[in-house]
Amino acid sequence: MVNIKYTNWGIAYAFRENNQDVIELNSELSKYPELKKRILKHEKEHLKNPDFLSNLWIEFKDMFDFKTHNLMARHLSLKIRMQSLIPIWYYKGQINTNSALFFIYLVFIIGIIIVI
Ligand SMILES: [Zn+2]
Repeated sequence: MVNIKYTNWGIAYAFRENNQDVIELNSELSKYPELKKRILKHEKEHLKNPDFLSNLWIEFKDMFDFKTHNLMARHLSLKIRMQSLIPIWYYKGQINTNSALFFIYLVFIIGIIIVI
């Protein structure tokens, strides 16, 4: 059982809290069932495979899920999409991090340094 909580920060975030799987979803997603379904599927994969390498793989493979990106671009505001790219955030008294995002940025920065 996954406990779904609605927020207005970012797009979605999955975590375990008191032995319970929780997915926080932006309440905007309720208006777009197809997009919501795709995002829930992505977040459930995170819950099923919570280790760092699996998270990295899930982020990497879904970078090429152009249908979902297209729906996000069409339906979600730039503000919400930008929030979802921030690897550390503070919301309702809680600090959250996305270590897979940190790692992706790190690789990207090292790549740029090597190229220049
Ligand atoms: Zn993800």
